[in-house]
Amino acid sequence: MCDTFVALSQATTDGSVIFGKNSDRPYSEIQNITYYPHDEHKETEIQCTYIKIPQVEETNAVLLSQPYWMFGAEMGANEHGVVIGNEAVWTREPLGPPALLGMDLLRLALERSQTASNALETIVELLERYGQGGACAENDSSLNYHNSFLLADRSEAWVLETAGKWWVAERVKEPTRNISNNLSIRTDYDLAAAGLVDYAREKGFSETTKPFDFAKAFEINWRECSPYSREGIGRRILQDKAGNISPLTIMKLLRNCEAGICMHGGFRSTASMVSQLFSLEIDIHWMTGTPHPCKSMFKPITFPISSLTPYQPATNSPDQNSIWWAHTQLSETKPARLPNWEKKEMEIHSKIQSANDEQFKAISKQAFTIEQEKYLSLIQNSF
Ligand SMILES: [Zn+2]
Repeated sequence: MCDTFVALSQATTDGSVIFGKNSDRPYSEIQNITYYPHDEHKETEIQCTYIKIPQVEETNAVLLSQPYWMFGAEMGANEHGVVIGNEAVWTREPLGPPALLGMDLLRLALERSQTASNALETIVELLERYGQGGACAENDSSLNYHNSFLLADRSEAWVLETAGKWWVAERVKEPTRNISNNLSIRTDYDLAAAGLVDYAREKGFSETTKPFDFAKAFEINWRECSPYSREGIGRRILQDKAGNISPLTIMKLLRNCEAGICMHGGFRSTASMVSQLFSLEIDIHWMTGTPHPCKSMFKPITFPISSLTPYQPATNSPDQNSIWWAHTQLSETKPARLPNWEKKEMEIHSKIQSANDEQFKAISKQAFTIEQEKYLSLIQNSF
């Protein structure tokens, strides 16, 4: 489960494009903030989660929110201002054998593309060549799905939805758009796999007398989007706020526990990200690296990145010096002793408006330090 949002420039307070995602994953799965620098490759192949594919000569620097056990990522950004989030969808096409995961496609597209439409082409080419498939959770072969993607850059956004090797894409025309684990592209698509409509009609997925409707044809148990679903509520809130959207608006939306957008339970929001993409200034990526945005701090990060220090990614062994484990330990105290970070984020957000690059880096570092110190002091006082 996941929710992904985009607000185009006409919907935001300052003309930036703003993207946000909650990654909803199995409860105990660690998801880290990771960074891979711009790189040139001599090796001819790259090992993805399950298969090897040819490597390219050069890959972009990428900032990811990455489940610790896989090659791919749930969401991320690259040095050219491209951001992508993927989501699980369940379609009438059979689930394939281990191939590329949706998360692998996401990372490969960020590494290999310079714009959102370029990233879309990269995903589609890899999908058609290698297919998608394989267990999407560690040690749980039952979690399998197809993928939809929301891609954005500094000037536009695209939704790409897939069913096996089939796909359609829609260039976002409304000021805001969201996806939420359902196929959402109907008759109004801009690009599609060659032969898609004929295939759907041959299979009996789509009537020949009506315009081809991708969601209706390929979604299992297709229904109109309910206004009370995560998708419906998210869509309405975005539409209501259009014109006044800032990164703080999207953080608040991701923190909506009542609607289930901030998900609690066996499947929970394990990490979150909000990106602000500017045509003339430096993009800002706000990442949590911890579960439940309602109880997590969004820390700002910008490219170029030399290191994510003092941030320490979590491994399987508990370590209070990683915010993921400190956060987990605090969430398991009764009552949970996790602070609310909204005031701090507002402070940071206002500070970075006038910061130069060097000041920004210092503010970013300080945000990670403040969070870490706060967690450590709470842990010392709880046990
Ligand atoms: Zn919550």
